[in-house]
Amino acid sequence: MADCIFCKIIAGEIPSAKAYEDELCLAFKDLDPKAPVHLLVIPKTHIQSVDAVTPENSGLVAHIFETIPKIMKDQGITSGYRVITNIGPDAGQTVPHLHFHVLAGKEMGWEPA
Ligand code: AMP
Ligand code: ZN
Repeated sequence: MADCIFCKIIAGEIPSAKAYEDELCLAFKDLDPKAPVHLLVIPKTHIQSVDAVTPENSGLVAHIFETIPKIMKDQGITSGYRVITNIGPDAGQTVPHLHFHVLAGKEMGWEPA
């Protein structure tokens, strides 16, 4: 999708620090990390957010959730991690391409709202 930062990352038009890639999804380092490991995992197809998940595209979401544990194993994470997705303005979604933040490498607090 034109003007989508993450579609441009997928197309290689904007550089990223890739951690994993396959035919359906891409994982790369967040530019503004909130934990020692902070990856963004995105589908290679443009989906705006969880709000736009349908029976037609939900297989991509399932694939991402099957892949995240493998990525974290590759990252050497053994004591847990957190997966977050923001949906819309109140949740602070700034990039309108579905992405899962995956945070690890420290003991995290929990004050999400
Ligand atoms: P959200 O606020 O949930 O929409 O998350 C968007 C995330 O994308 C933020 O954590 C940003 O730091 C991150 N981000 C924005 N542009 C880039 C980029 N070019 N490369 C890596 N991370 C990015
Ligand atoms: Zn996009």
